[in-house]
Amino acid sequence: MSGRKMYKIVSIPGDGIGPEVVAGALEVLNAVSKKHGFEVAVEEHLFGGASYDVHGSMLTDETLEACKNCDAVLLGAVGGPKWENLPHAEKPEAALLKIRKELGLFANLRPAKVYDALVASSSLRPEVVKGTDFMVFRELTGGIYFGQPRGYDENRGWNTMVYERYEVERIARLAFEFAKKRGNAKVTSIDKANVLEVSQFWRNIVHEVHQDFPEIELVDMYVDNAAMQVVRNPKQFEVIVTSNLFGDILSDISGMITGSLGMLPSASIGSEHALYEPIHGSAPDIAGQNKANPIATIASLAMMFENSFNMPEVAGDIYAAIEGALAAGFRTGDIAAPGEAISSTTEMTAAILARI
Ligand code: NAD
Repeated sequence: MSGRKMYKIVSIPGDGIGPEVVAGALEVLNAVSKKHGFEVAVEEHLFGGASYDVHGSMLTDETLEACKNCDAVLLGAVGGPKWENLPHAEKPEAALLKIRKELGLFANLRPAKVYDALVASSSLRPEVVKGTDFMVFRELTGGIYFGQPRGYDENRGWNTMVYERYEVERIARLAFEFAKKRGNAKVTSIDKANVLEVSQFWRNIVHEVHQDFPEIELVDMYVDNAAMQVVRNPKQFEVIVTSNLFGDILSDISGMITGSLGMLPSASIGSEHALYEPIHGSAPDIAGQNKANPIATIASLAMMFENSFNMPEVAGDIYAAIEGALAAGFRTGDIAAPGEAISSTTEMTAAILARI
């Protein structure tokens, strides 16, 4: 025994470009573990269509158990045309929902980080987006997407937006703790407390939890204003915390002001488990062609070090290597401007590795 800390990571490459981008991230994992002197044990498991073809199930008990018995899960993407016509309950999307539920992943973290080299590819003006770097905490297992009663008949449709105290407390705490790690970043809690009682409740609880973090600035903002502010002046945000529905919309807007789908990582976090994955899907149109951008998955790995392993210096190294590769002009097809040379998945991965 070396006595060094050993991290157990379950890797589930999945379908389409999943295996290509996860392979790149695992090379980066190997490089940072050598550089920073810690050990990792990576266990690969089947999930999605790849699992269905072998076991007749998108998510086997074996894969689920492995995810429950590791320090963090790294997921590529699942799904594709081959499995599109299966009954709803057997589809990859159902397996994704199941894994998130079984692991109790109640918080979804999505960064809006603009890399200097890609400032020009944002839909917003360079001076507006340059330097943007904030994190959205979206509540993932409660609110209107799950509340009862729900339904519709010929004359009415209805859903229920409901939050329990513990649901708001735990995501608020996670967001404040993250803000603390980021040098007491400002937290903006987004709600619709001027119209919705459930939002007033949300606001009250967030303020209660805030009492344990007096060093952190807390700002309340209505969701309609927040949607405007994200595109007007995104740099005013550092950490956003919000409910399931508002977070669904705001995290997409926030992500996209930074450029391409191939750049966007995410983390889903619970009390005991965590899963890291790119936002994008399995991209069947480019699968198997060494064309996929591996950065979203490599940045998801950086989030793992920041959130699950409390090693911000490793995360910082990975982000700096991504920034360096972009600054040196490496571009996969999704982020290349017309006329720019295009790198393959493996070339982009190598360019990042060379800078670790
Ligand atoms: P998608 O994200 O797979 O692809 C959308 C477009 O973006 C495509 O043109 C694709 O080539 C491009 N793209 C995506 N990721 C890229 C990357 N890393 N590098 C370069 N280009 C990239 O979305 P879709 O086409 O709507 O869905 C395809 C399949 O993926 C479907 O079966 C869908 O159900 C599944 N899906 C899975 C997840 C997941 O696993 N979390 C998420 C979304 C979609």
